[in-house]
Amino acid sequence: MKTFLTSDPIEAAEFIRSGGIVAFPTETVFGLGANAFDDGAVKKIFTAKGRPSDNPLIVHVVSTDQINEIVTVLSDHAKVFMEIFFPGPLTIVAASSGKISPIAAAGLDTVAFRMPAGKLAQELIKAAGAPLVAPSANVSGRPSPTTWQAVLEDMDGKIDCVLKGEPTTIGLESTVIDCTGSVPVMLRAGAISLEELRKAVSETVDGTGSANVRPKSPGTKHRHYSPRAMVKFIEDGDVEENIARSAYIGMLHPKGNYEKVKIVGSVEEYARELFEFFRECDRSGVEVIYCQSVSNVGVGAALMDRIRRASE
Ligand code: AMP
Ligand code: MG
Repeated sequence: MKTFLTSDPIEAAEFIRSGGIVAFPTETVFGLGANAFDDGAVKKIFTAKGRPSDNPLIVHVVSTDQINEIVTVLSDHAKVFMEIFFPGPLTIVAASSGKISPIAAAGLDTVAFRMPAGKLAQELIKAAGAPLVAPSANVSGRPSPTTWQAVLEDMDGKIDCVLKGEPTTIGLESTVIDCTGSVPVMLRAGAISLEELRKAVSETVDGTGSANVRPKSPGTKHRHYSPRAMVKFIEDGDVEENIARSAYIGMLHPKGNYEKVKIVGSVEEYARELFEFFRECDRSGVEVIYCQSVSNVGVGAALMDRIRRASE
């Protein structure tokens, strides 16, 4: 298959309309989109990524009409979150109307949806005329792509089209919040922090580390975000003995003489740069990537979550 490159969302939407799959930029990472109602197109996403079939997809919408089509009821909590955080990097889980492709739902009777803030993503969904299911546009298990070039690295020849755009501004996937129960439960950490969610709904529970809520978000159990290199945490001031073929990313200047060093000025920049740094290290054959630990507040919690999974 020849993968078509364009900067025009209208042109990219034509591929969706004819049952194809298209990678596109969002504010979080690049997604790989298909019409959420089209089983055949949705299947192509799982094949292109090598994604396990029990890992459901997030539905990307541009309007409340599209949300109302895919859910049955929205809890008051869900409405509060939507009011504050839509459009933006928050995914809400609600009772499904059963209209989206069962392949995308991976057999669940709930649906996860979000309204992306990126202009190109919004234009693509509008022009496609349907909500789009979209996981990150990488081969399953690899770091999510934050540039269109990284998308091509994994997907050239496997997908119909790449909608080019600027590198993504957040660089980590959306926060996932389950609003099907009596209290909201955060299933995956992301750009919207637990603190921000609790400011909106104070009863919000952190379900990210808890075994009994984990099965609710099947995708969180799979291996994720990994470069070929080994990933290790490094505490402030640590000195490593053997750092040949090693790289470092963090906010503090490291003591060792690493082959590759990336100093970031803030936790936000760290989040934005992490996955591309992983890919860059793989391109140059680095064997171990040391990542400085940061505190678990704000986007730091999501950042630590991704590094921890990459290191497993
Ligand atoms: P990804 O597309 O790889 O960013 O992952 C999507 C995330 O959303 C995974 O962690 C999924 O398990 C989660 N997800 C998607 N649909 C649902 C759902 N209906 N209920 C709970 N979690 C979901
Ligand atoms: Mg992903």
